[in-house]
Amino acid sequence: MAQLFESTPQCVLAVYAHPDDADVACGASLARWAKAGAEVIVVIVAAGDKGTIDADIDPRELAQRRLAEVAEAADYLGVKTVVHLNIPDGALQACDSLSETIVRLIRQYKPDLVLGHDPSAVFFGSVYVNHQDHRAAGWALLDAVAPACALPHYFPKAGPAHRVPTVLLSGTLEPDVFVDVAETIDTKVAAVTAHRSQLRDDDDWVAETVRKRAVEDGRRCGLSAAEGFRFLSLDG
Ligand SMILES: [Zn+2]
Repeated sequence: MAQLFESTPQCVLAVYAHPDDADVACGASLARWAKAGAEVIVVIVAAGDKGTIDADIDPRELAQRRLAEVAEAADYLGVKTVVHLNIPDGALQACDSLSETIVRLIRQYKPDLVLGHDPSAVFFGSVYVNHQDHRAAGWALLDAVAPACALPHYFPKAGPAHRVPTVLLSGTLEPDVFVDVAETIDTKVAAVTAHRSQLRDDDDWVAETVRKRAVEDGRRCGLSAAEGFRFLSLDG
């Protein structure tokens, strides 16, 4: 039987590739924890400058528009801090410098829960290949939490070591814990629809898709609405 993730973290750091990824992946969970008093920080690695099918739009203008969308979505979710790393879309690499940047942020904010992409998920059926930026950001995050941030000789200039006890990975093919989001799914819908540059259809279609996914995840764990994750306990 699927496990429920019921604890309320004190400080949550969510590291995602593109400006809308955190909201789509775990927006309802972030809203739930923020509502319960957690400090929630979202780190957005890429600028979002290529996230369009419109050949006429200026990538720099698109990235600017997306900054405003992120700010609006963060307001809905109760996210107080958003950190933009502004690497161009498609240029993310799971490299030392990205891991060091993430280690620095982890050591600065000292989260007890970190979220990000599951980089091992590549093929979702025959219809979707996980974006390379998601995989790169996910690997860089895993390299940062296991073991770099907890060991002082890794990136010694990035602040004093901090161990992250729990990691939840989204966009996973193997979800094994679920967060009850019945009370915050409407907030997630508002946050996701704030990313207007990403909406190809009307808001209703997006809202229905977000709700449908939450109901499907809920069915796997006996809840009316849930978000599923791969759970890592690094307490060792
Ligand atoms: Zn993305």
